[in-house]
Amino acid sequence: MTSDSSTRFSPPGVARKVDIVVIGAGQAGLSAAYHLQQLGFAPHRNFVILDSSPAPGGAWQFRWPTLTLSTVNRIHDLPGLPFSDTVDPAKTQVRASEAVPRYFAAYEQTFQLPVLRPVRVALVRAHGERLKIETDRGDFSARGIINATGTWETPYIPEIPGADRFRGRQLHTHDYRTAQEFAGQHVVIVGGGISAIQLLDEISQITSTTWVTRRPPVFREGPFDDTAGRAAVALVEDRVRRGLPPHSVVSVTGLPETPAVKAMRARGVLRRLPMFDEVTEHGVRWVDGSSVRADVILWCTGFRSALDHLAPLMLREEGGIRMTGRLATQVARDPRVHLVGYGPSASTIGANRAGRAAATELMKLFSLPVSEGQS
Ligand code: FAD
Repeated sequence: MTSDSSTRFSPPGVARKVDIVVIGAGQAGLSAAYHLQQLGFAPHRNFVILDSSPAPGGAWQFRWPTLTLSTVNRIHDLPGLPFSDTVDPAKTQVRASEAVPRYFAAYEQTFQLPVLRPVRVALVRAHGERLKIETDRGDFSARGIINATGTWETPYIPEIPGADRFRGRQLHTHDYRTAQEFAGQHVVIVGGGISAIQLLDEISQITSTTWVTRRPPVFREGPFDDTAGRAAVALVEDRVRRGLPPHSVVSVTGLPETPAVKAMRARGVLRRLPMFDEVTEHGVRWVDGSSVRADVILWCTGFRSALDHLAPLMLREEGGIRMTGRLATQVARDPRVHLVGYGPSASTIGANRAGRAAATELMKLFSLPVSEGQS
C-alpha cells in the first residue's frame, strides 16, 4: 500500500500493535511475509511490512540501467509465483530495475501482502516483552521482527589516506548510472567482485581504465553448481554462527569466466594492479612511489548490512552479531529478532529460504500453532 507520506499509521504517542513487523520489502521481506501469511498470520491484524522505498522492487529499482536480465547472476522465483508469470525471462535485454519491480509489484498484489510504504524505520527498542518500532509515520509494537533491510543503503568505501584531497570525481557502484558520462576521462576502478568486473567491461569500452583489487581475483571456469553453492553459503553461515561479521556469499564463490570476461581478457583490460596506498590530488599512488593519474575513482567495494536502526537492541557481541536457528536467521542475543537477507541468506535464493525459516521459528517461539502442511 503506497500512500501519501504525510499519513500516519498510528496516532502520536500510540503504538499500533501487531505480532510481527517485517522491515523491508525486497526478496527477503516478501518471502518472510508470504510464509507468515501461509502460517495463518492475518495481514494488517497480525503482521505488516514496512518499506522505505517509494515503490515495489526492493533495491532492484535503484540499480543501474545496463544491469539487465542477461547480466544479473540469477534471480530466483519468490515462493508461490514464478518470475516468468510477469516477466518473459527470454527478454534478456530488459533492465533488472524494471523487470524485478514489476514482478515484486505483481507478487504483493497477488498475495495481498500488507506492505506499508514509504515508511522508514528509524529505531527498534526493547519495550518489556515487546519491541517498539519507531518510524517516520508512527510507532508499531510487535512481539518479534523480521529484519530484511538489505545492504543497498550502506555502500562501503575503505578509508584510504588522501581520499579527501582528490580533485576528480569519486563515486560508488551505488551511484553509477552509465559509462558514457566518463568519456575522455581516465577511470580507476577499485574492487574484485562481479559488479567491478561488469562496470570495468562497460567503461573500458568507452574510455581508458585502471583496475585495482586488494587480492588477486580468482576466476572460475564452468558453471557454479549446487554443491559449490552450498559450500560457499556454509562458509558464510559458519562465520555468523561464530558471531563474526559475514563475508558476502559472492566473495567466496569466485568470478565466473563468462564470454564477456574472456573478451575483456582479449582486449587487455583485465590487467589488475594491487591496492594503492594513497589517493593524491590527481590520482592514486603506491608505496613504491609509482602512481596513476585519474579523473574518476569508482569504488566497487561492496555494501554492508543496513542495521543501524537496530542499534538500541545491542545485538552485537565482540566481533559481530552471533546468529542461531535452523538457517542462522535468529539473533542469539535476542531470539525475537530475525535477520533475513543477511550473511548466508544474502542472495535471492538464500533470502527465500531464510524468510520461511524466520516465519516458522517466530511462530514456534511465540507458541502459536503452525498450520498443518504449510510450514
Ligand atoms: P533489498 O532488495 O535491498 O530490499 C531491502 C528493502 O528494505 C528495500 O526496499 C529498502 O527500501 C528497505 N529498507 C532498508 N532500510 C529500511 C528501513 N530502515 N526502514 C524500512 N525499510 C527499509 N543476488 C542474486 O541472487 N542474484 C543476482 O543476480 C544478484 N545481483 C546483484 C547485483 C547487485 C548490483 C547487487 C548489489 C546485489 C545483487 N544480488 C544478487 C544480491 C541480491 O540483490 C540480494 O541478495 C537480494 O536481492 C537482496 O534482497 P533483500 O530483500 O535482502 O534486500
